[in-house]
Amino acid sequence: MFKRPALILLLAFAASATLLGVWRWSYAEALDKLESQGRASLLLAADRLVSQLGRYRQLPVVLTDNPLLQQATQRGGDLQDINLYLQQVADVTGARDILLLDTTGTTIAAANWAGDSTYIGRNFADRPDFIRAMNGALGVYHSQENPQDPRGFYFASAIRVDGKITGVLSVKVDLEVLEADWRGDPEIIFFTDNNNVVFIANRSSLLLRVLGDRFAILQDPKARRNYAAAALQPFPPFHERQIAGRSLRTFDDAPDLPPRALYLQTPLPVIGMTGNILLDLKPVEQEARLRTALAAAFLALFALLVLFLLQRRRTLAVRLQTEEAANQRLEERVQERTAELRRTQEELVQAGKLSALGQMSAGISHELNQPLAAIQSYAENGVILLERGRVAEAGKNLEQISSLSARMGRIIRNLRAFARKEGEDMADVDLARVVADTLELAGIRMREANVTLHWQPPKAPVMVRGGGVRLQQVLLNLITNAIDAMQGQAEKHIWLDISQQDGKTYLQVRDNGPGLENKDKIFEPFYTTKSVGQGEGMGLGLSISYGIVQSFGGRILGENHPDGGAVFRVELTPAKQE
Ligand code: ADP
Repeated sequence: MFKRPALILLLAFAASATLLGVWRWSYAEALDKLESQGRASLLLAADRLVSQLGRYRQLPVVLTDNPLLQQATQRGGDLQDINLYLQQVADVTGARDILLLDTTGTTIAAANWAGDSTYIGRNFADRPDFIRAMNGALGVYHSQENPQDPRGFYFASAIRVDGKITGVLSVKVDLEVLEADWRGDPEIIFFTDNNNVVFIANRSSLLLRVLGDRFAILQDPKARRNYAAAALQPFPPFHERQIAGRSLRTFDDAPDLPPRALYLQTPLPVIGMTGNILLDLKPVEQEARLRTALAAAFLALFALLVLFLLQRRRTLAVRLQTEEAANQRLEERVQERTAELRRTQEELVQAGKLSALGQMSAGISHELNQPLAAIQSYAENGVILLERGRVAEAGKNLEQISSLSARMGRIIRNLRAFARKEGEDMADVDLARVVADTLELAGIRMREANVTLHWQPPKAPVMVRGGGVRLQQVLLNLITNAIDAMQGQAEKHIWLDISQQDGKTYLQVRDNGPGLENKDKIFEPFYTTKSVGQGEGMGLGLSISYGIVQSFGGRILGENHPDGGAVFRVELTPAKQE
């Protein structure tokens, strides 16, 4: 990947290159269009000029056949009738002047015979059109010999009598009259002769300007015979630039010309001239500028879009990160809470155990005191029997003492295990043993309360998954609840039963008490029907038991028995058989 500044530089360079390309391409395209338009305009103007001049080209040829004029070349003397005739023809055709010359080149009759500016008597022997006519061809010529004269275009043709040239007829066309038609054209069009002198133009400021280096040559009076002496001037200076074979000209100091222009030419051999056109480049530049600006705007928009997308991606990434962090925090909190809950639950379990122990403390001390008192009397009797030498009987007493202390030891071990705080792992435990141990703790309370216990211990161990102490706690709670429920009853029965069904092991506790008041609520924490004053009835016993059994992957259900009383079923998973 690029570093950021390098990337930006690269993109900026690419954008500039693109814009430059767009500029060039648009410029070239617009230039193409301008060129074809300009070429069409130039050809149209050239056509117009050639056809306008063509009208007059025929005139001397037609007139030379006129016998009147043929005679006049031979007649000499007063030719006033010819003057009038020529004037008439000139008026009708729009020619500026029509001259009749003798073979020496002297004007003998003319349409503008009257006035000072008449050509009658003037000699044109050195003029190229006269010379060509005398050679039998059509003479073509243009000139402006005096600044005050109009610029003229001449066609000359020889007059023949019996095959012999007797004179020349010359027709002069006033170019200003032709130009008048196309003065307003937007393009600058001008026609140059073979001296590179602008002789016809739709901008008067360009007339008689000389293109290129011909100006120096034309300082020679012989070379510029046909132009008025002072009238010639150099063409406004320009710089030329070539683009794809096209000539672009920049004019620094020509108010009448566009500052930058496309220059086109076309040769017109029929009239011995070249057509020229200067086309303003402003529209081309405008078009190129517009397109480049559009491209730039588009690029900018594109760049903005890209920036926007990048920004959005970044924001999204940041948001994702934040969400992830938040999720993580949440998870940590959940874990903390779970751990806290577990601790709380463990504490509750412990509290439940202690409260059960508290309830049974009187019974338990009785349970221990009774064998202790028995041991004492057995020991005292034993002493007396030994004094009397009845050793065998004393031995019996010692055996009794031994078995009673063993029983006490069992009770104490059981109590210690029950009261131990540390949690125990899941293991395979014998459900029958759990019942036996629980009965050892609860037996005295049952006896005190006059409860009849119905219990057939199974012959073989019934192994289930769970924790022995916690199962004792559950069973102790169920038994205590049953005793509590039957308080004040004359007949009190508790049935304990272990059974197997559908791959599950069930421990059932049934009583013949009043039954469950609201069996849907009994497992809710703090649900109790016992008055708090009795020192019992926290409403936690069953909910703790529920949690314990659930942690073994089992369930506990409480129902009313059809014959009255409540029945609790603890469903457990049997240990896997090897
Ligand atoms: P506590 O014993 O402190 O009331 P438990 O969660 O152990 O809390 O019991 C909740 C309630 O369920 C008891 O208050 C009682 O209403 C009802 N209950 C539990 N066992 C029995 C039963 N064997 N017979 C009738 N009701 C019972």
